[in-house]
Amino acid sequence: MTASDQLTLPQLEGSAERGGSLASFIWFRTGGPAEWLVRPKDEADLARFLAELPNEVPVTPIGVGSNLIVRDGGVDGVVVRLPKSFADVTIEPGNKVRAGGAAMGITVASAARDAGVAGLEFLRGIPGTVGGAVRMNAGAYGREVKDVLVEARVVLRDGSAETWPLDKLGYTYRHSDVPEGAVVVEALFKGTPGDSATIGAEMDRIAAEREASQPLRSRTGGSTFKNPPGHKAWALIDSAGCRGLRVGDAQVSEKHCNFLLNLGNATSAEIEDLGEEVRRRVMDKTNILLEWEIQRIGSYD
Ligand SMILES: Cc1cc2nc3c(=O)[nH]c(=O)nc-3n(C[C@H](O)[C@H](O)[C@H](O)COP(=O)(O)OP(=O)(O)OC[C@H]3O[C@@H](n4cnc5c(N)ncnc54)[C@H](O)[C@@H]3O)c2cc1C
Repeated sequence: MTASDQLTLPQLEGSAERGGSLASFIWFRTGGPAEWLVRPKDEADLARFLAELPNEVPVTPIGVGSNLIVRDGGVDGVVVRLPKSFADVTIEPGNKVRAGGAAMGITVASAARDAGVAGLEFLRGIPGTVGGAVRMNAGAYGREVKDVLVEARVVLRDGSAETWPLDKLGYTYRHSDVPEGAVVVEALFKGTPGDSATIGAEMDRIAAEREASQPLRSRTGGSTFKNPPGHKAWALIDSAGCRGLRVGDAQVSEKHCNFLLNLGNATSAEIEDLGEEVRRRVMDKTNILLEWEIQRIGSYD
């Protein structure tokens, strides 16, 4: 029995799919379904839905799953996936960019480039949504979301909608204080005046560097572990002899060993077991315990 057995969902103007597949779109292409996969029509729809959803039903927001292992038993309760109606990106005075929670990082970076707003180029290299980036404090090339965020709009688990200024988000490395069950529906970013051609060149440089160093065309979940203070996770993994290590059809990438791959038929359990084996070997070799960066959700079988 799960908390939401026999659950009748509140009214929704968007859609709700019982047993909706997550493996069909998340980057690893593994894992079980959502008990309910919900796509609200707009913020008001989401807020009303969450307000009426019984408190004991867990709510898990999900972007495009570029930093996610969904376990093979699937995810109890409600998984919220924001649809395209949450993907608008607009430019505002003062070098600001307002983006919906479902907008992709590359779309935000491109809109900023076209408007001559510099400072958001790093989002070009992060293949997730604005909601995921705000939640994860995503970053690259020395910048993180916390360096460019003005405020974020969140719909809390009880259905109340609030605009949180930067300092309320409690950002540290790859961490925010976005509460459990809260959905980031919009963010306001601020850059500086820049030249579109220069910004575009920097975005191209980022794209080329990524292509050369990361397994972008593979079924992966991005950086598996956080960089421990003063260390690079990939170097520790390499030194522990884990490059290319396999469990079933899950493998440590040969190209970038802080990335795990689904070679084709891996289960989420194999991917997670491989990650745990890497942590053990790195601990044995270096006495450093790696901390998962990839979010793991759902239940084992
Ligand atoms: C090839 C590759 C390269 C990557 N490079 C980088 C990099 O350089 N830097 C970096 O930081 N990351 C990187 N990542 C990881 C990933 O892209 C980021 O963490 C991204 O921000 C995740 O966004 P997402 O929409 O895919 O979120 P998901 O993976 O779907 O979810 C991640 C977390 O965010 C939460 N979440 C998602 N949407 C919302 C929302 N609307 N409201 C509240 N919570 C939400 C989920 O519950 C989960 O806890 C990379 C991933 C890949 C596959």
